Amino acid sequence: MSTYDVAVIGSGPGGYVAAIRCAQLGLKTAIIEKYSTMGGTCLNVGCIPSKALLDSSHHYEDALKHFEDHGIEIPGEVKLNLEKMMGRKATVVEQTTKGIAFLMDKNKINTYEGVGSFKDKTHINIASAEGEDVTIEAKHTIIATGSKPSSLPFIDLDKERIITSTEALKLKEVPKHMLVIGGGVIGLELGQVYKRLGAEVTVIEYMDRIIPTMDAAQSKELAKVMKKQKVKFALSHKVTAVENTGDEVVIKATDKKGKEVEFKGDYCLVSVGRKPFTDGLEADNAGIKINDRKQVEVNEHLQTNVENIYAIGDVIKGAMLAHKAEEEGVFVAETIAGQKPHIDYNLIPGVVYTWPEVASVGKTEEQLKEDRVEYASGQFPMRALGRSRASGDIDGFVKILTNKETDEVLGVHMVGARVADLIAEAVVAMEFRASAEDIARMSHAHPTYAEAVKEAALAATGDRALHV
Ligand code: FAD
Ligand code: NAD
Repeated sequence: MSTYDVAVIGSGPGGYVAAIRCAQLGLKTAIIEKYSTMGGTCLNVGCIPSKALLDSSHHYEDALKHFEDHGIEIPGEVKLNLEKMMGRKATVVEQTTKGIAFLMDKNKINTYEGVGSFKDKTHINIASAEGEDVTIEAKHTIIATGSKPSSLPFIDLDKERIITSTEALKLKEVPKHMLVIGGGVIGLELGQVYKRLGAEVTVIEYMDRIIPTMDAAQSKELAKVMKKQKVKFALSHKVTAVENTGDEVVIKATDKKGKEVEFKGDYCLVSVGRKPFTDGLEADNAGIKINDRKQVEVNEHLQTNVENIYAIGDVIKGAMLAHKAEEEGVFVAETIAGQKPHIDYNLIPGVVYTWPEVASVGKTEEQLKEDRVEYASGQFPMRALGRSRASGDIDGFVKILTNKETDEVLGVHMVGARVADLIAEAVVAMEFRASAEDIARMSHAHPTYAEAVKEAALAATGDRALHV
């Protein structure tokens, strides 16, 4: 029987990063993945394919609607080749997942394909698709089994017309009318993909605003821009029934006045969140506690109630984000190696890759109000930037929230072109506990979108923004 210092179950961004860090630290490491490709949800059916489709559909929309503004004329009709677009996405996924297999080899990590399940605290059975079982021994195990789409109890996800993100990433036709249940990250990103490709899109959201966990100003701005893009929103609607009638999907919902309304479309994307995945893990055999929310319960060291077993990523509490899972992978590897790592969860940014993009770090204005923190706010509109006018991306803003007394930056919230990348500046600033004055006094290259960060900082320190 092979024996390891560490066995990692699951090869998503949590698992594969944990395995690499363990190997770097000299620990003999194995990784177990039930699918034939590495990379988990993120690389196979999540971050990477969705971003590939967002980029491709963005190009298509630019060619259709915006090239002309730049004086570019396309003789003849701009045509969509959906099969080719999907093929490109598949190639991007393949290259990326193969890259992870290469990294496993490079770091001398043993890879097992099959479902990993606990026999006891130190033995893991691996059942391959061919029905061959292997057992390995591991001093430490890291559970990184991720999550799966969740649904509503009355929905029959037939995966043909009533679908999750996994199917939405490989549709063979552009829907005529895509109904999206849930105005969160997946609903808006994939809704925007199909809107750009020509579908009518209606987003039905339970709360009174889209992206309800982000700063309310971001929800308002994104909704405004997406409405201009002709995406329809039914907010404060409680879905009560979803039925596939053959060629059509019919959704019944009650609006905020309690009136029953009906929506009809040809596809329904259910994007109401994801649930932790522990099926097949046989956690009971090792005595591992799973809580009521189906999460593997962990302490502040990400250790389960069983001393030598840890858990990371979507399968535990917290934001379901690839970079959060990665930080936790490194954290646990270093903890097992005897180091004392730290994660500041407040500084894990959140991004929505619509266009304009949405990005946040730290506290929202709503959270500061709830915590009764005295704060100052500085906001700068993207449309006032030369860079935005040059590219034509004038929607959005940067908002910086600071402690009123100390000027320390407490939260940064952005909507606009390339803010997914811009948010890194805010993370660095907050990591070093910068004040708005610090940011305001740093030179920002001209013309860049980043100038909006400096201007918002100037606005937060008083009425000092220079270009409004
Ligand atoms: P996962 O990536 O879910 O990986 C878990 C792995 O464990 C899987 O490969 C699974 O097959 C394997 N596994 C499970 N049980 C077993 C077992 N018993 N034995 C062996 N293997 C097992 N996050 C971002 O930060 N940015 C984004 O842009 C983004 N976009 C997304 C888009 C979509 C459409 C979706 C669905 C998600 C997106 N996410 C994004 C979320 C991100 O994918 C997850 O947060 C991330 O993948 C979690 O990583 P993980 O390692 O915890 O789990
Ligand atoms: P989400 O939590 O982002 O959004 C779910 C939305 O559905 C919420 O707005 C919620 O209010 C709404 N909702 C819940 N129940 C409802 C109901 N009965 N009727 C109508 N609306 C309802 O979840 P998601 O969009 O499914 O994404 C799942 C996870 O994947 C998220 O945790 C997210 O962090 C992650 N993800 C991240 C990215 C990214 O980082 N860019 C992209 C995609 C997914």
